[in-house]
Amino acid sequence: MGDNILKIENDPMGQAIYDYFTEGKASQIKVYSSMFDDDTMSVSELFKSRKELSEIEKKALMEAKGRILDVGAGSGRHSLILQEDGKSVKAIDISPLSVEVMKKRGVKDAECLNLYDKSALNEKFDTILLLMNGSGIIGKISNIPNFLNRIKELLNPGGMILMDSSDLIYLYENEDGSVDIDLNSNYYGEVDYQMEYRGKKGAKFDWLYIDFYTLSMYAEMSGFSTDILEKGEHYDYLAKLTLI
Ligand code: SAH
Repeated sequence: MGDNILKIENDPMGQAIYDYFTEGKASQIKVYSSMFDDDTMSVSELFKSRKELSEIEKKALMEAKGRILDVGAGSGRHSLILQEDGKSVKAIDISPLSVEVMKKRGVKDAECLNLYDKSALNEKFDTILLLMNGSGIIGKISNIPNFLNRIKELLNPGGMILMDSSDLIYLYENEDGSVDIDLNSNYYGEVDYQMEYRGKKGAKFDWLYIDFYTLSMYAEMSGFSTDILEKGEHYDYLAKLTLI
């Protein structure tokens, strides 16, 4: 993954967030993937309020402490709640349209920049928050060491990552509980996506879903201790990786 930001004409999700905020409604986002049937996503999902949060999200927001970095903050929904709770948060996203919406909604410290851009972001944080399958931003398994090194540069001593993901193993499970995975192919949680909004498609991108065991293995090699803080209803979980 590069360290660029998105062009306005190549950002279907940001456009949808912008329209939903300015017009009070937006068309559905179409989601394409070589691994799944075509799907749609409702933009209201990206604006869920405090009372609509999942247990995983509630737990993450409760645990976040010190100076917080909300990575891929989207509409700013989590940052706004953290601010309301008196916490200190910086929200970043590669979508200029989303960042504009965040600022208009009252996120005090919102910046359009890429997590991987070292020159644009060199502050230190106590908590790095990645939510809504936050592990997606890692892209591919092979990028985990690079991701964790980048996170380490951004963390104060003793700092932590709070990140949610899902174990896609359920896609490969048979009724008798056995699993069909081709060990010679890519890791089963590596997915590609492309989004479309109002007839305009964005670029394809890689999005990683990762099981806790695999994530822990890499994180421990990289100097983090790992915990599951919360489990969701369907193979999803909230991980806490603490720098030791
Ligand atoms: N966390 C938000 C939005 C999730 S969608 C929520 O829960 O509502 C993922 C977001 O990550 C998108 O807005 C996308 O633009 C942003 N993003 C993707 N890669 C990024 C990167 N490398 N750095 C910063 N933001 C990124």
